[in-house]
Amino acid sequence: MLVMKFGGSSVMDAEHIRHVAKIVRDRLDRKPVVVLSAMGDTTDHLIEAAEKAISDGPVSVEFSLEKISETHLTALQALGLSTMFTQDLRELLCDLATLLSGISLIKEISPKTRDYLVSFGERLSVRLVARYFQSLGMNARPLDAWDAGFISDSNFTFAELVPESWRYIPAALLPLLDSGVLPVVTGFIAKDACGAVTTLGRGGSDLSATMIAAACKAEEAQVWKDVDGILTADPRIVADARPVGAVTYEEAAELAFFGAQVLHPRAMYPCSKTGTPVLVKNSHNLEAPGSVIGSSLPADAHHVRAITARGNITLVDIVSSRMLGQYGFLAEVFSCFARHRISIDMLATSEVSVSLTVDSTQDIGAAVNELARIAAVEVKMNKAIVTIIGLVSHSSVILESAFGVCARLGVQAQMVSHGASKVNIGFIVDGSEADTVVRGLHKKFFGEQS
Ligand code: ASP
Ligand code: MG
Repeated sequence: MLVMKFGGSSVMDAEHIRHVAKIVRDRLDRKPVVVLSAMGDTTDHLIEAAEKAISDGPVSVEFSLEKISETHLTALQALGLSTMFTQDLRELLCDLATLLSGISLIKEISPKTRDYLVSFGERLSVRLVARYFQSLGMNARPLDAWDAGFISDSNFTFAELVPESWRYIPAALLPLLDSGVLPVVTGFIAKDACGAVTTLGRGGSDLSATMIAAACKAEEAQVWKDVDGILTADPRIVADARPVGAVTYEEAAELAFFGAQVLHPRAMYPCSKTGTPVLVKNSHNLEAPGSVIGSSLPADAHHVRAITARGNITLVDIVSSRMLGQYGFLAEVFSCFARHRISIDMLATSEVSVSLTVDSTQDIGAAVNELARIAAVEVKMNKAIVTIIGLVSHSSVILESAFGVCARLGVQAQMVSHGASKVNIGFIVDGSEADTVVRGLHKKFFGEQS
């Protein structure tokens, strides 16, 4: 058994869907389960539709709906699917119209309603693509995630699957596979115990796919993208970034979090538990071997896997003479951030100071005011975290090279954190310096491609 996940850009229109069908058809003998995202930018369009419904009222609804319907109806027609097949799609579009009208009248949207709203994207996409597969003679069946065993908590917009999903998912899917069905499952969404629709966080269909693969003990999870796998750097910054053949689950999770838009940060968890390999492949370059994410690396693996930068970081320096030889100070600092529900990304401490970073989208004003009562607090905005993902067993060599590059570029590392996850070395630079540092490091560690 195989899990094949295709993201929004892989199913954005009829032409892409035809291509996906070819890739799936060539692998039917391996018993695939297909996991899909919403077509193209449908998720964004749905969120925009709600925002417009709130700001512009009922008049906006028809216009928004037309944009979303058009993506789907144009694809249906181009795929030669008759309207007879599309009853369920029309019903979904009707429900969506009713929901948007409701939002335009009450002029607000709760996280629960927002999850229900964006779920239409994935539900439309699996129905459309499964119909097309059927028209080609494949025994496809569209499934909403909850009919495939995805039950989550009620943390709307960022729900977590309940542990029972590990049993429910194979119970729902394995009998279908045994009877020759090709399940086409919605990524990204689930239902809570009360039956309300939830989502697993933006980009969450990667997690849906790895969860199915792990829970069903599949031979592998394949995540199909439009790049040749996980790259050594963001190709928009480093022109000769190249694919990394193999990475560990831990490295892939760090990469996802620290700026490489390859996989959802939480997607590694299920497969790392079971050791199920995750293959990242390019649907537009089938010859490229892709990247394999697994528990171990080949013996000849390079000691640096990739270099990433994550911008929009705020650095908070907290200095207190009270910290000297005291206990409880760090606990006070952290509990303050926890009370204000602020997530800390990176951290370094000395005897009298703590430096930490937070994403600048978080409002830290109230937390800083509170901390200012017990310490001197300095907030520095517009920073970036540059991260070197690699083997910390080679850390001295990596650090020497990395800071040699920074020194030559005249860049000061403003905080350094290393070793916590055993796979990354991170340091803070000014946001405006990040790209130059990434390019310099990439050249140092990977050389220039001939
Ligand atoms: N459609 C959702 C999003 O755009 C989930 C996904 O693509 O994985 O975030
Ligand atoms: Mg998407």
